[in-house]
Amino acid sequence: MTKESVLRRWSFVICRKERRTMRCFGLTSDRHRCETEAQTPTPFCAEHQALTQDEPPAVSTHAHPWTRLVQHLRPTNHRVPDDARFAVPRWLDKSPTPQVIERLLNDASCTTRWSAAFVLRKRRDPIAIEPLWHVLQNDPVSLVRQQAAVALGKIGTPAVLGPLIEALWHDRDAAVRQACAIALGNLGYRVAASDLADVLTRENAVFVRWDCALALGQIGDGAVERVLAARAESDPSEVVRRACREALEEIRRRVVR
Ligand SMILES: [Zn+2]
Repeated sequence: MTKESVLRRWSFVICRKERRTMRCFGLTSDRHRCETEAQTPTPFCAEHQALTQDEPPAVSTHAHPWTRLVQHLRPTNHRVPDDARFAVPRWLDKSPTPQVIERLLNDASCTTRWSAAFVLRKRRDPIAIEPLWHVLQNDPVSLVRQQAAVALGKIGTPAVLGPLIEALWHDRDAAVRQACAIALGNLGYRVAASDLADVLTRENAVFVRWDCALALGQIGDGAVERVLAARAESDPSEVVRRACREALEEIRRRVVR
């Protein structure tokens, strides 16, 4: 299927809201998007319903790994500041959100798709999560995928964790993976800590490992102390080793308080 036909299909789905079925926003154990249909009105399937709960339930050792992780979710309001300014075309900036999404998905110009992602980033409307996830998975231009990742981070609801973690693991461009690590750190959801720690140990790009370590310091989850302590000794890059030491200090400082 070509990119154009995929995007046209998505445009059709978005325009036919009353008939659409939504795919679950959860992730599989190999960090790809869950294939199951969501149980409306939530954006999650039965297995991933824990993402919608206000209070984290007791952790079941029999649950799916991702479900166990999301059970630690703290659904506080994670509004990340955003002082970025960019002169997007005025007509696009003034367009209603559905039209901006249409441009994000279908415009032939990557500059316009990037600008549409930037406009959606500023609006922080959760209705854009699904199309931004689609772009993060499929747009052929890495700068567009990167802006989609940033936009998802600014929307900031728990539903953006799936797309950000999936792209942190699987995007082919290091700058996109880096944008995901930064966004996850700024959001501060503890559920993302184990993925950031795993990527820290397997990632080839120094600046992605560096941002994973910084993000772990921001999140402050004591469960990843052992990984950070090991990387603080073994990482081939001094800037990463230092970032791991600083993240450890930050985590321990929070525990002492
Ligand atoms: Zn699911």
